[in-house]
Amino acid sequence: MGTGQCGCGGNVAIEQLADAQRRVLLWVMMINFATFAMMVAGSVGSGSSALLSGTLDNLGDALAYLVSLAVVRASPRAKAWAALFKSALIGVAAFAVFAQLLSRGMTPPPPLVGIMTAAALANLLANSVCLALLTPHRRDDVNMASVWECSRNDVAEGLGVLATAGLVYLTGSGYPDLIVGILLLILFSRSAFTVGRNAWIQMQGLPA
Ligand SMILES: [Zn+2]
Repeated sequence: MGTGQCGCGGNVAIEQLADAQRRVLLWVMMINFATFAMMVAGSVGSGSSALLSGTLDNLGDALAYLVSLAVVRASPRAKAWAALFKSALIGVAAFAVFAQLLSRGMTPPPPLVGIMTAAALANLLANSVCLALLTPHRRDDVNMASVWECSRNDVAEGLGVLATAGLVYLTGSGYPDLIVGILLLILFSRSAFTVGRNAWIQMQGLPA
């Protein structure tokens, strides 16, 4: 954990976690998958790029927990492959977000503020619920501390997307949404790239 820019996207050493911690991570994973689907729908409905770029983090976090939970007892090589596969999936998603950004052009129409605000609020609520679930475990060990830190960053990101909706409302312009969309895309792509590179390097050091 903690290799990416947002502190998210690494793999948790689940075998070192207690049952209570695993249950919490299962919930956080399901909330992130649901939020991912909701945000994609919100982005399509509103035309917001910031929302779509934000979904990369929900997808990345959900996949990170899924991979961690799924390969608990797998070999180090299988774990590295799983981490690599996860990064590749996020890479494909990032490419789709990039294509959406390009398709909107240099003078993007402002997104529909009502739908964008509703999706941004739901995202912030979901991130806050995850943070509340993780907070009792934040001092358990280094694993849970980094998951908690990731979740706290997600709440900050949620506030940022909501503020972007406010800026779109105030200015009536599509630029705040475009700029935040580009920034989040860079942030989360770098995060996924770092995790993928680390998994690749790790794999080279493993016996065949
Ligand atoms: Zn995150």
